[in-house]
Amino acid sequence: MTTTRKVIIIGSGPAAYTAAIYAARANLAPLQFIGLQPGGQLMLTTLVENYPGFVEGIDGPPLMETFKKQAERFGTEMITEDVTAVDFARRPFTVSAGGESWEALTVIVATGAVAKLLGLENESVLMGRGVSTCATCDGFFFKDQNVMVVGGGDSAVEEALYLARLGRKVEVVHRRDTLRASKIMQERAFKNPKIEFIWDSAVEDIRDPEIGRVTTVALRNLKTQALSERPVDGLFIAIGHQPNTELFRGQLELLPNDYVKVEPGTTRTSVPGVFAAGDVQDFTYRQAVTAAGSGCMAALEAERFLEATHS
Ligand code: NAP
Repeated sequence: MTTTRKVIIIGSGPAAYTAAIYAARANLAPLQFIGLQPGGQLMLTTLVENYPGFVEGIDGPPLMETFKKQAERFGTEMITEDVTAVDFARRPFTVSAGGESWEALTVIVATGAVAKLLGLENESVLMGRGVSTCATCDGFFFKDQNVMVVGGGDSAVEEALYLARLGRKVEVVHRRDTLRASKIMQERAFKNPKIEFIWDSAVEDIRDPEIGRVTTVALRNLKTQALSERPVDGLFIAIGHQPNTELFRGQLELLPNDYVKVEPGTTRTSVPGVFAAGDVQDFTYRQAVTAAGSGCMAALEAERFLEATHS
C-alpha cells in the first residue's frame, strides 16, 4: 500500500479521461486505472461526427488517444490494469488491481456500460462498418440506405423513430410478436409509415465481411423456421446495455437495472466521496459528450468534497 491518493479514477472512456483532465489541472494528482483494454465503447466505432471540436469528425480510437494524451499532459498517472476489488466501506477507500492495493480519499467510478450483442461472428467483424449500437451516432451515415433495427424494447423503438426521421424505410426485427417497449413508444412506431416490423424473427447472419461492409441480413422466422434475406446497409443492434457495475455490487447503491444510483443532477453516489460519471450511471443519453460532461462534474465534485473534508 502506497500513500493515500486524493483521487482515483476507474475507467478510460470520455467520462474517465475528462475527470482526469480536470482533477489533474486542479492539482489533485489523479491516479487512473485505464484497464487492460483502454478506451471504452468508442474503440468500437469508426467515424465520430457528433463530438464537438472536430469539424470533419474523427475515428473513435484516435479520439480516445487524444483524450488520453490530454490527461497525461497534466500529469495523470495511469495504470494499465483492471480493478479487481474496491472497498468503499472504510476510509480511506481501497482500490485493488494486479495484486496490489491503493488508498484514496475520493474515487470516481467511470467504468461505462457495454451494448449487448447478438453473438454472431460477423457482428463484431462488421462493427463500425455497417453494424452499430447507436443510431444517434451512426444513423446519419445511412441516410438514404436500407436500415434495420434489432430489438423490441424502448431502445429499439427509439432508434427506429430516430432513423425514420433521417430518411428511408426502417425495418425492425423482433424475436416475438409483441413489443416490450412502452405503449406510447409503440403507438408512435406503429403510426410511423416509414417503420415496418418483422415479427418472430432472429438475425441468423450478417454479410459481407469479405468486402468489409454490411450488404445483407439473413433472418430466420422462429415460428416457421423459414430463412429469408434482406438487403441492408446499416444494422442497428438495440437489445439493451449492461453497465459495468459488478465490481461495485454491495459497495454502492445500484438501481434495479444495475446502473449506479446518483443524486439527480450530480454525480454523487450513495457513498460520500465516491462519484459516478458517464454511462455507468446514465441509461438515458449515453453519448460521448454527455459522458465527458459528467466526468467534469465528478472531478469538480471530488475537488469540493476534498476541500470540505480535508482542508
Ligand atoms: P430492454 O427493455 O431490455 O429490451 C431489450 C429488447 O431486446 C427486448 O425486446 C428483448 O426481447 C430484445 N432482446 C434481448 N436480447 C436479445 C437477443 N439476444 N436477440 C434478440 N433480441 C433480444 O432494453 P432497452 O430497450 O435498452 O431498455 C432498457 C431500459 O431503458 C428500459 O427500462 C427502457 O424502458 C429504458 N429506455 C427508455 C427509453 C425512453 O423512455 N425513451 C429509451 C430507451 C430505453 P424480448 O422482448 O423478447 O425480451
